[in-house]
Amino acid sequence: ITIKNLNKIYRTEEIETTALNDISVEVKDGEFVAIMGPSGCGKSTLLNILGLLDNPDSGSFLFNGQEIAHFNERQRSELRKHNIGFVFQSFNLIDELTVYENVELPLIYTGIKGDERKERVEAALDKMQIMHRKNHYPQQLSGGQQQRVAVARAVVNKPKLILADEPTGNLDSKNGGEVMELLTSLNEQGTTIIMVTHSEHDAQFSHRIIRMLDGQTVMENILI
Ligand code: ADP
Ligand code: ADP
Repeated sequence: ITIKNLNKIYRTEEIETTALNDISVEVKDGEFVAIMGPSGCGKSTLLNILGLLDNPDSGSFLFNGQEIAHFNERQRSELRKHNIGFVFQSFNLIDELTVYENVELPLIYTGIKGDERKERVEAALDKMQIMHRKNHYPQQLSGGQQQRVAVARAVVNKPKLILADEPTGNLDSKNGGEVMELLTSLNEQGTTIIMVTHSEHDAQFSHRIIRMLDGQTVMENILI
C-alpha cells in the first residue's frame, strides 16, 4: 500500500473539516502496523480509505501496484471483498445469524459454493477455536468469543490485508491478549495487518507504530 499526499475533507452545510491533510503512508506486504493518535486525528477516516469504504478527495493510493484513488463504488467493492478482512471494536456480527452463518457470509458474497464453502468456514472456526459454538448466536457468546468469530469471518476469504479498528477495545485483558495473539499468528502466516489502537500494550505486537495528529503522520516508531 502506498498512499501519497492524500487529502480528505468532510463538507457539511456550514463547516469543512480536514480529516486527512496531505498524508503519506507506506505499508509493505506482510507488515503489521499500528496506527495511534488522539480522538479526531483522522484514524478512522484513514482506515475507511485503506479499506476501500471511502474515497479520498485528492492524492494517490496504490493498492497492489494499482492506482485506485478514483475507483468507483463497484470497483472498490470487488477489490475489497477479495482482498480485505475487517475486525471492529464492537465485533459487528449479525445477531440473527449463527456463528457458522456469520462466517459463511463473505464466502456467499464471493460466490464460493458447496463443499469448498463448508470446508473454509469450518477451517476458520477451527483455527479460531470456536467450532464448538458454531450453532450459537452472537448474543450467547462472551465478548472474547464474539471477537474470535469476527476474526474467523475476516479471514475466511483468505485476504492479503486485515484492517482492525480497536480490536481489543471491548475486551478484558485476557481476551484482548488472545485476540492479539491470533492477529500475530495470522501476520506470521503472511497476512498484512493494519490496526488502529489506543493501547500502547497492543501496539507492541506490531512491527511499527504510525502516530497521527491533525490528519497527518507525526512520527513513526520502528519496533523490530
Ligand atoms: P479518529 O478516528 O482519529 O477519531 P476521524 O477520522 O473519525 O478521527 O475524524 C477526523 C475528523 O473528521 C474529526 O474532526 C471528525 O470530527 C471529522 N469527521 C469524521 N467523520 C465525519 C463526517 N462523516 N462528517 C463530518 N466530519 C467528520
Ligand atoms: P466473560 O467472562 O467473557 O464475561 P460470560 O460470563 O459472558 O463471559 O460467559 C461465560 C461463558 O458462558 C461463555 O463461555 C459464554 O459463551 C457462555 N454464555 C454466556 N451467556 C450465554 C447465553 N445466553 N447462552 C449460552 N451461553 C452463554
